[in-house]
Amino acid sequence: MTPADTSRITIAGAGLAGSLLALLLAQRGYSVQLMERNPDPRLAGPHSGRSINLALAERGRHALRQAGVLAAVDRFTLPMRGRMMHSEWGELTAQSYGASEDEVIWSTHRADLNLLLLNAAEATGQVELRFDHKIERIDWAQQTLHFSTQPSLPFEVLLAADGAGSAVRRAMDAAAPLGVREELLDHGYLELTIPASDGGEFALDPEALHIWPRGGFMMIALPNSDRSFTGTLFLARHGDSSFERLQDWTHQQDFFWLHFRDAMDKLPRLQADFLEHPVGILGTVRCHRWYHGQQALLLGDAAHAIVPFHGQGMNAAFEDCLALARLLEDRSQSWERIFQTFQAERKEQANAIADMALENYAIMRAAVRDPVFLLRKKLEHELERRHGERFVPRYSLVMFHRGPYADAYRRGEIQSEILDLLLAGAGSLEEVDFTLAERLIAERLEPLPAPPD
Ligand SMILES: Cc1cc2nc3c(=O)[nH]c(=O)nc-3n(C[C@H](O)[C@H](O)[C@H](O)COP(=O)(O)OP(=O)(O)OC[C@H]3O[C@@H](n4cnc5c(N)ncnc54)[C@H](O)[C@@H]3O)c2cc1C
Repeated sequence: MTPADTSRITIAGAGLAGSLLALLLAQRGYSVQLMERNPDPRLAGPHSGRSINLALAERGRHALRQAGVLAAVDRFTLPMRGRMMHSEWGELTAQSYGASEDEVIWSTHRADLNLLLLNAAEATGQVELRFDHKIERIDWAQQTLHFSTQPSLPFEVLLAADGAGSAVRRAMDAAAPLGVREELLDHGYLELTIPASDGGEFALDPEALHIWPRGGFMMIALPNSDRSFTGTLFLARHGDSSFERLQDWTHQQDFFWLHFRDAMDKLPRLQADFLEHPVGILGTVRCHRWYHGQQALLLGDAAHAIVPFHGQGMNAAFEDCLALARLLEDRSQSWERIFQTFQAERKEQANAIADMALENYAIMRAAVRDPVFLLRKKLEHELERRHGERFVPRYSLVMFHRGPYADAYRRGEIQSEILDLLLAGAGSLEEVDFTLAERLIAERLEPLPAPPD
């Protein structure tokens, strides 16, 4: 079967990836049915319990631009120009993300973004939204979806964007093993509220992503367009300094007083947040295979959930949507062929960003306060200023460029070796041998290719 023989595509999950994919496919003339387990957020209000805001980077922005919705998204999106580190003693250290002014990342509201994508998809007239449809089981022989509370429905082809705990992935794996590896992180997260000040102003600098790095754990905060911030505490789930030890207000208060004193007056709902917000789990999902014959394909978190420390899960999911929509512009290939091509294109990228996201946790919670790390960052930016056609920091390749993640990973390894050589014995930028830098960069790094379409 090919897309040309398919009268309707079914998408599982109307989260960020499912809604964008529905929109992109509708724009290409497909008829789409979107199945979501939660009630319609326009009637029930947004479903809470997931990170309220997210860092949107160039990859995600490109997909939104291609779907024609970026300008609308930017109405509730705020630029973050760099990291603002908060020490135990309340000292602030700012560090810009990019080498130039326009290299910023964007704090965006999850529920607003999801709603905008749903509305845009529905407005095409090609997308049927079915809320309260929780997929429980799939009959592959009969091509039928079984739901928890609704009558069963047939499907022709199923694109699964039902998130990290994907029910479709489970059903595919039960029918023919996918080689799934789910690696749970031993750290969890708790969301905290930093409201606007009494005067209605931001309680912290709104143009920064704030980090309280504490070595084994950290708190971060991203701004919202209503002038509040959403804070997130990332901490071990068990053991010393863990959520397990913070079971009552006395321990919670003492812990914050000890480690995050400068933030205490900005967290008036701290006790309520501990009571009302669940500790979220984090992990990485890798699958050997992402598709089930010509019947179903996984994408977004369902295929490759990652830890959030590079702010790339949604961005990677949006890249998936665009890559798949582009493959579906040709309606003549079999579904299985399309699924194979998609997997060949995206799996290596998913693995690379999964690894970089794990590495970034150690960077965010510990390395950012190390003077050697800060000097390394300075040198990276200086080398980009001097040799930007070849040398671009890995962080920037991931956040501000759109070349494959796997290339960013590879180039990052080479660049790291160059930085090690240049910084051996150097305690400041003035002591770096820039003639040697020029030679190493010319010898070891190819010029960066032009950005993909
Ligand atoms: C704390 C935290 C912070 C994060 N920060 C960032 C960030 O800054 N930047 C970034 O890019 N990414 C970030 N992410 C990752 C990002 O949230 C995910 O990568 C993104 O939501 C993936 O989109 P998705 O559509 O694949 O999955 P989801 O957004 O999880 O959507 C899945 C949808 O499927 C529905 N569903 C689930 N099961 C069923 C079922 N059985 N039947 C029908 N429907 C179902 C769900 O209700 C949901 O609507 C963060 C994640 C966390 C946990």
